[in-house]
Amino acid sequence: MPTLLLTHPACLEHDMGEGHPECPDRLRAVMAALESEEFMFLHRREAPLAERRDLERVHPADYVDFVLNRVPERGLARLDPDTALSPGSGEAALRAAGAVCDAVDAVMSGESRNAFCAIRPPGHHAEAAQAMGFCFFNNAAVGAVRARNRHGADRVAIIDFDVHHGNGTQSFADRYADVFYGSSHQSPAYPGTGSSRERGQYGNICNVELAPGSGTEQFRAAYTETILPRLRDFNPELLIISAGFDAHARDPLCQLRVKTEDFGWLTEELVKVANDCCDGKVVSTLEGGYDLSALAASAAVHVRALMHT
Ligand SMILES: [Zn+2]
Repeated sequence: MPTLLLTHPACLEHDMGEGHPECPDRLRAVMAALESEEFMFLHRREAPLAERRDLERVHPADYVDFVLNRVPERGLARLDPDTALSPGSGEAALRAAGAVCDAVDAVMSGESRNAFCAIRPPGHHAEAAQAMGFCFFNNAAVGAVRARNRHGADRVAIIDFDVHHGNGTQSFADRYADVFYGSSHQSPAYPGTGSSRERGQYGNICNVELAPGSGTEQFRAAYTETILPRLRDFNPELLIISAGFDAHARDPLCQLRVKTEDFGWLTEELVKVANDCCDGKVVSTLEGGYDLSALAASAAVHVRALMHT
């Protein structure tokens, strides 16, 4: 079974202004990297719009309305100091969440073995009723509830290797005993959450903090010693990956020293757990990554590992 690649040109039309790191060129760089011949066997399709009822299982209806109604006809509508809507942002945000839902459908139905959603805006900082950190809707969480409600998945794991803690995804996971959230992230760093002491009311949250300057050894140890054993014990029926590549040494926003090949290694390790637990059912969605060439190279090794592990 093939790996599915979902994206949509509307995701290029969300533009938070000159000099903003979460820029359309990020997605152009990722898609250019996935044009090479080795990726010709990817199944490709355009992301649908997310359905309201899927969004409303994670976000209150009045928050969904608030975001979509604030989309400006021109210029920017700021929702947070670093998060703004442009005229194309509403459709982009709906396509981003819709991509993850469509990927969940494809993987849970057996149409695709796994999937990568090359989308923006990212989602893991979005709280139920608050846009923040370049995020509006929590794409991974919306996908997780789709897997539960549409496909009867009892245990969904979300692993988040973005360099920032996914505060919004953790808040979501804290509401469900049967959702596991595992995250490695730099600490101290934005958004300031994600202490290893935060385990959730059901004990289903696993945070590993990495000090600035941490590199390959500490990054891999976070997984081999802590997150991967917890994931295996949880025995997911679907693994969703919040794939942010901003732990890379060249990334301008944080100070980890992770290498491109570390993302390939980690993806292989995650797929191996999924192969053992759930026939390799993995849905990965793009989160951060702000050095364009590091992002492109890292996304390529990530997708290569999804295709071949
Ligand atoms: Zn990030």
